[in-house]
Amino acid sequence: MQLLNGKDVAAFHGKRIARQIQVVREKKGIDPELAIVVVGDDAPSVMYAASMKRTAESVGLNARICQEKEGVGEDELLLLIDRLNEDPAVFGILLMMPLPKSIDSQRIINRIDSSKDVDGLTDANIANLYTGREGFVPCTPQAVMAILDYYHISLSGKEVVIIGRSHVVGKPLAQLCLSRNATVTVCHSRTNDLKAVCQRADVIMAAVGKAGLVTGDMIKPGAVVIDVGINRVNGKTVGDVAFEDAALRAGAITPVPGGVGAVTTMMILENVVCGIARTDTIL
Ligand code: NAD
Repeated sequence: MQLLNGKDVAAFHGKRIARQIQVVREKKGIDPELAIVVVGDDAPSVMYAASMKRTAESVGLNARICQEKEGVGEDELLLLIDRLNEDPAVFGILLMMPLPKSIDSQRIINRIDSSKDVDGLTDANIANLYTGREGFVPCTPQAVMAILDYYHISLSGKEVVIIGRSHVVGKPLAQLCLSRNATVTVCHSRTNDLKAVCQRADVIMAAVGKAGLVTGDMIKPGAVVIDVGINRVNGKTVGDVAFEDAALRAGAITPVPGGVGAVTTMMILENVVCGIARTDTIL
């Protein structure tokens, strides 16, 4: 059984991204920035923003946290996005979700210039993904692909079963697998016999948010298991896959923590660099 180590994948991409940012700075005199917009004091959002800033700075990318108060109006938020869209130093805008319930999230997201939408959430980038045009892909599905690439795991002709159909993970993941010529099945809370569907999978990707949902008996011997889930159980972070049990059957498996999550933030930075490359031929 091979452990698919997300930390190694993140380190590999981190080194490359750091080199590219250095080239941009030295050869072009551009000091690129990532703007992270946080609304209110939702603890996970504040923590994620701070960790994103640290990761960005670790590869030499400036990160600006734009902290807005909980009661900020939609118009005020739209103005902030407009200012960031127009700021030539800003190459990526990351909006921490969820936004307060009083705010129409999709309206704010869609105000982000699609060329700075490094989380791939604008309607324009969603359309790009589904039509196979160049654009930004949400960072978690992209992290899954980065792990498969790093370990030379091809999806062509494989039966891939994705558990979860959210807009940010399950659905874009299905599209990326299709674009790699996999035969894709998407399961969800109303799937009748999850075990039977999973048992035929060459690759299982779990993105649900339920600890222990995928057990060893659901895994075809030798299958690749990608665990996207993040759950807190008795003070510990675990995925959706019962790891010990699954590792006995899987051919390769991602751990939690240290799997997909370790690569996700790096993919945002990867997208910032891609955005710079699209506006300039330096990279
Ligand atoms: P979500 O709540 O939006 O979607 C969960 C999906 O799971 C839904 O489509 C639902 O139909 C499905 N589901 C629920 N119960 C099910 C069941 N019993 N059987 C089959 N399907 C079931 O969640 P999300 O935002 O897609 O996140 C999914 C998980 O991935 C969460 O644990 C989240 O914390 C984690 N996550 C991890 C990363 C990362 O970087 N590793 C990033 C984003 C989300």
